[in-house]
Amino acid sequence: MNVARLRCLKCGRSFRPDESQLTCPSRNPGGLLEAEYDYAAIARSSDRDALAANPHHRRSP
Ligand SMILES: [Zn+2]
Repeated sequence: MNVARLRCLKCGRSFRPDESQLTCPSRNPGGLLEAEYDYAAIARSSDRDALAANPHHRRSP
């Protein structure tokens, strides 16, 4: 899903997305981890999807 990293809402630590966990391990209780998405990759893939769905899109005069 193009998650670039997970960031703790409390302390700001960031984690690799493959450490799939929901809360920060650094404190008790830990903060929720917020997913930060790779928006560039999402934009690239949605461009590709849009082109696939509308193959004539860029050919219109
Ligand atoms: Zn934290």
